[in-house]
Amino acid sequence: MKKITAPTVLVYLLAAPAMAQDVSLVDTYKGIHAHPELSHHEEHTAALLAAELRKSGYTVTERVGKYPDGTQAYGVVAILENGRGPKLLIRADMDALPIIEETGVAYASQVDGVMHACGHDVHVATMIGTGRALAAVKAKWHGTLMLVGQPSEETIDGAKALLADHLYERFGTPDLAIALHDTNSRAAGTVGVTSGPALTSSTSVNVVLRGIGAHGAQPQAGKDPVVMAGEFIVQLQTIVSRQENPRDPSIVTIGSIHGGTKRNIIPNEVKMEITARAYSDKARQIIVDGIRRTAQGVALSAGVPEDLAPIVTVLDAESTPVMYNDPKLTARVRAALVHALGAQNVIDEEPGTASEDFGILGLEGRKIPTMMFGLGAIDPGKFAAAAAEGKLVPGPHNSRFEPAPEPTLRTGVTAMSAVAIALLQ
Ligand SMILES: [Zn+2]
Ligand SMILES: [Zn+2]
Repeated sequence: MKKITAPTVLVYLLAAPAMAQDVSLVDTYKGIHAHPELSHHEEHTAALLAAELRKSGYTVTERVGKYPDGTQAYGVVAILENGRGPKLLIRADMDALPIIEETGVAYASQVDGVMHACGHDVHVATMIGTGRALAAVKAKWHGTLMLVGQPSEETIDGAKALLADHLYERFGTPDLAIALHDTNSRAAGTVGVTSGPALTSSTSVNVVLRGIGAHGAQPQAGKDPVVMAGEFIVQLQTIVSRQENPRDPSIVTIGSIHGGTKRNIIPNEVKMEITARAYSDKARQIIVDGIRRTAQGVALSAGVPEDLAPIVTVLDAESTPVMYNDPKLTARVRAALVHALGAQNVIDEEPGTASEDFGILGLEGRKIPTMMFGLGAIDPGKFAAAAAEGKLVPGPHNSRFEPAPEPTLRTGVTAMSAVAIALLQ
């Protein structure tokens, strides 16, 4: 008897009798796209995901996750036990962004000022399709599937909320965790793979430079925090250029600065909001220490009294660690993707400088190996036309980001199912 390989099963499953189901998956996707929900508010998206996975035979728990203020999150956990074997967590994030959609598609957002501009609707639809596919081929894998609909990725407090609500104590600790994210840097039908550090850590820092207010015409009577801010901004950029190892890239950006009310008043303080990105804990620490030291340094040289020293606050709730793709797990995932999609459709990607909170589900010290791969989401014709001009079509967090439902969803379901089958042996 001919041995049935994972891709054969999937081709059978996705192409032949399941064509009708595929159409409905596209419709499901369009429905989610038209009804986006912001972080912390994923009520209907979560209910839809839960209902679909229940239909496929999963044991589903809703409203998993607790935020620091005690409110319950809209996390979904769906379990399918299938004998002895590893426990695999697959994660899909569900939230949308505060962006006015400008794609012009027929199924565009019907919610004012809210759009699935990061493609988390693709992730949810892919999870529904993957859940169905894996439930239909239980003879091909062994172990436990743990599908997680994660809330609040964009505010990077969703993964933390799941763990704070004892995700692993309640549903068991997975042996491995995987996820995908759609991308405009690849055409639909392809996937991208990065081994090792794949996305930077993101660290949010607030700085308040305090001075002594005075009349704008009597600077000698005050300590001017606006001048201090000017020195601080320039010196801050020397952390990356002079203190970091050039082979370990990092970024420091001041995205917001506020001080003063009127041209002839020296204000009491200037407030700044900083984001820092890094691929290693060491580079991250150098930035955080550098921000503190630079702030103290400019205050000291301006003669600011000690009781008005700068206030530097690292916002842990708005920070997330590096997204690290475990190299061993990545090699297995890559092999499964090549097997399912063909080598020409699996592309090795450079690390990116965006951030993700998926890595948090791997726990401190990377106890659980995690891996996220990229899912090409752009219509291949549009992608090629833009590439011929050396351009990319709009991507995540852009009001014109328009994933092509097909072949993106089909590729996502095929890829994720093949990876799950390969890992659950
Ligand atoms: Zn995003
Ligand atoms: Zn995203």
